[in-house]
Order: sequence, then C-alpha cells, then structure tokens
Amino acid sequence: MFTPFPRLPAELRRLIWAHALPSRRAVEVDMAPFPEELDTYCNMRSTTMRNNGIVRAFAHACSESRAVVLAHGGRLLLGDDGPRTMGGTVPNSHIKDILNPWVLDSDVLHVNWEPYFFVQYDLEDDPIPFYTNRDRSAGFSVAADLQNDYADFDQHLAKANVHLCVKVVTIHATDQQVLSSVPPVFENLASRVQLVSVDDMATMQAMHAHWRRAYDAQSCHGKWRDGEPEEAFLELVGDGDDSAKFREQMDTLIQETASRFPVVVMFRHCADECYMQKEEL
Ligand SMILES: [Zn+2]
Repeated sequence: MFTPFPRLPAELRRLIWAHALPSRRAVEVDMAPFPEELDTYCNMRSTTMRNNGIVRAFAHACSESRAVVLAHGGRLLLGDDGPRTMGGTVPNSHIKDILNPWVLDSDVLHVNWEPYFFVQYDLEDDPIPFYTNRDRSAGFSVAADLQNDYADFDQHLAKANVHLCVKVVTIHATDQQVLSSVPPVFENLASRVQLVSVDDMATMQAMHAHWRRAYDAQSCHGKWRDGEPEEAFLELVGDGDDSAKFREQMDTLIQETASRFPVVVMFRHCADECYMQKEEL
C-alpha cells in the first residue's frame, strides 16, 4: 500500500505518532477478576492484554515512535518484589504477561484489589503505597464495593490521586462498531479500558449508545449478545428508581471519603470476538 508517511517532515511524523497514543487509558497492573465476578461472559484477560499492549506496540514500531513514547511515558518496572494483590494470593511476579507494562504519564493505574481487603484480612501486602510511589502516571484506581464502609479509609487512601472504581461494564462489540461510534468511544480503540467519572454524563451516554447499537446489530445477525449492561446503564444514565438508588449510594460514598477521591466506572471493550463464537446464552 502506498503511504506518504515516511516522506512527511520528522516533526509532523512525531505529532502524528503522539496524537495516536491513548490519553485516557486505565492500565491494569494485576490480574483481571474472573468473569463471573463482573457479570460478564468473556475472559477479561484478552482485553487487559490488548489494552496494556498498545503502548508497547508503539514503542517497538520504530525508533521514531519509541522516542515519542519515551517522551510521554516509559516502562513501569514492577520487578519481582511487587505487592501481592487479589486477596494476597497472587504476587505480580506470577503474572508475567502484564509485568512491567509500558505506561504513559496520562494513564491511570488500576488494581482490582479492594481497599476493604486491608481491613478484612489485615494484609501486609497493601499495593497502594507501592503503586502510588511510581512517578509516572496520572493517578491510581482501586476496586470499591459499595456495600462496604469507606469512612476509615481517608488516611489510607489520601496518599495520591486515588480513584474509587465502583462498577465495571464490559461491552462486547466489534472493533468496527467502536471505530464507527458517534460520539467516539474508547478513543477509537486506543483505550480499550477506560475510567469514567460518575458525573461525566456525556461519556456515559456515549457508552450507552454504543452498547445499544452493538446489541441491536448482534440481534439482527442472530449472534450472541449480552444484555447485562442494560442494568448498569439504568443506574448510570437512567431516570428511574435504579438510578436514584445508585446516586444515593454514590452520595454516601462521597461523604464518607470527604469527596477526596474521584468516583469512577470502568468501561471495557471486550476483545474476545465473542459475538462471533458464542451460542445464545
Ligand atoms: Zn465478549
């Protein structure tokens, strides 16, 4: 295929590389939960891997793209001494695939570890200080269960720009459906995992529209489709009782944590191509 890209001035090429990098990405630094924990049907890890891998791919494309990546981020070296997560049973060193990811300064690091484990199990391997001491990232996110009481976490969490992630919504769709979504979602596939503030209604609505369109299209073609997100969207963007109850829980959480922590929802673009493979469930 003919492409004029190599003949463009170097400055312009660097701008194009930089523009193609994700700017709103969440990078998981521990193992994604089991599908049943998140009310989804697919293996979460393929999404984690592709989402984490995009910056590495940029860094390895050529020396020019690598220089651009290094200007905006670098390799997050966790080493073998990283904290244990997932209830203290899985050291990061056992997760070779996502060990030492390439990250950007704009990325928010996410652990599926919940701060409540800290109280429940009296864990010594609290990952928060470890990750918040990494110098290059825009913040840190932890899973938060709304059933728990976070009143006592102020001191524990106040160390950095910690986000509380209260919900995970997986959207099973084709890459093409993401790329053609209006308004755009998942940064046109640059960010397959993204954290959205519960107050960012515009992005919530965009995600809802994207899910609805993909769901309807899968129906037309007689393919497997996931109706599970409907419930989540009723809470996030609906105007009924579900939404009122969810907002009430959010208000309680925000009061408990003295509004110090951004409350976010994680959206994931399922990269499993499940719409091609699965039978109707
Ligand atoms: Zn899927």
